[in-house]
Amino acid sequence: MLSPHDTEERRQFRDTVRRFVDTEVRPHADEWDEAEEIPWELHEKAGALGVFGFGIDEAYGGLGMDDAFLRMAWMEEMGKSGANGVLAALVGRTISLDPIQKLATEEIRERVLPDVVAGRKGSSLAITEPSGGSDVANMKTRAHKDGNSWVLNGSKTFITGGMKSDYFVVGARTGGEGLNDISLFFVEKDAPGFERTKLGKKMGWWASDQATLYFDNCRVPAENLMGEEGRGFIEIMKNFNLERVGLTAEALGMMKEALRCSIEWAQERETFGAPMIQHQVIRHKIADMSAKTDALDAYLQQICYAINEGDMPVAEICKAKFFGTKALEFVASEAMQILGGAGYLRGNSVERIYREVKVLAIGGGSEEIMRDLAVRQMGL
Ligand SMILES: Cc1cc2nc3c(=O)[nH]c(=O)nc-3n(C[C@H](O)[C@H](O)[C@H](O)COP(=O)(O)OP(=O)(O)OC[C@H]3O[C@@H](n4cnc5c(N)ncnc54)[C@H](O)[C@@H]3O)c2cc1C
Repeated sequence: MLSPHDTEERRQFRDTVRRFVDTEVRPHADEWDEAEEIPWELHEKAGALGVFGFGIDEAYGGLGMDDAFLRMAWMEEMGKSGANGVLAALVGRTISLDPIQKLATEEIRERVLPDVVAGRKGSSLAITEPSGGSDVANMKTRAHKDGNSWVLNGSKTFITGGMKSDYFVVGARTGGEGLNDISLFFVEKDAPGFERTKLGKKMGWWASDQATLYFDNCRVPAENLMGEEGRGFIEIMKNFNLERVGLTAEALGMMKEALRCSIEWAQERETFGAPMIQHQVIRHKIADMSAKTDALDAYLQQICYAINEGDMPVAEICKAKFFGTKALEFVASEAMQILGGAGYLRGNSVERIYREVKVLAIGGGSEEIMRDLAVRQMGL
């Protein structure tokens, strides 16, 4: 369907990402899933497309511009690869980039950002703790000032890219209880007192790693406090917005892929003497899947338009995220039904998509938290 937001530049960018998906991702998706990692060169190949450079100044290796539609196109087309562990491995760094550019010292920005944006090195955002991820204001990791250093104690878990990243943006409590005493810190992998271990086997996102991080009197220079002391919670919340748009665009791509596979299968497979596509029950499934996909697509485009106009529609972003992951759950389930036993075998994107629904429904703000925040943002 034609969209008023489809410009030549955006079409060309989408085509570039599609080629990347077809040549660099799809052919290796199963192999990398089973190996539980991607080759590091893929980070550099993605970096060369500019996809880690949205909103990052050219001085730090970024694009020097931002466009929510281009961000959406990248996440959606990668979502369509049906290899979302690969996408997670690549974009784990993205949520740490804006805080580094905005809040780190000039020395850190100049030294770190060009390598991370080019895909030569990795970085991660570490907020979630073993005691919980939804209640960010209640985090337990602490940092205290000691001379010219900050000393961190505590632990973070589920940190995407955590085993391979060189750099971490870490939330820690610098005062009493509550949301006004949380600050952000820049921590490097060789900081004294820093350790990490790989998380156990997961339901999905096999090709990406998640780590538990340990801070045992972990000492970082005083300048590694990012931004103002006690302003970390606000920065974490602002940072969530674009992450959530990205995850929703990824869900949209997965829905489109599941729908495409379902239609293809229903056209080829015959049951009861006719191609499945001729059975009314299957036709209705496809109509429902398609309607939900179109609705999410339109919603996201509206959100991207608002963001480009300088508005950050937080309530709509939250609503789109939980609406999107619920719609994805429906579409993934119907796609599995249409493929039948064939969908249950490993090595096809519908099987992968089905077991990667829940990470999007939980990560980056769960469906429950998104509903709460949406209603609060509606002033209720
Ligand atoms: C694969 C993966 C990758 C991740 N990557 C990162 C990362 O890079 N960095 C990072 O910081 N975190 C990361 N996370 C963590 C993720 O953000 C958290 O899992 C998420 O915020 C939920 O936190 P939790 O798992 O601790 O669940 P909890 O906060 O313990 O909540 C458990 C369940 O209860 C629900 N719940 C909680 N409170 C309420 C309430 N008041 N009312 C109703 N329901 C409620 C939640 O919605 C959730 O479904 C990742 C998670 C996964 C699974």
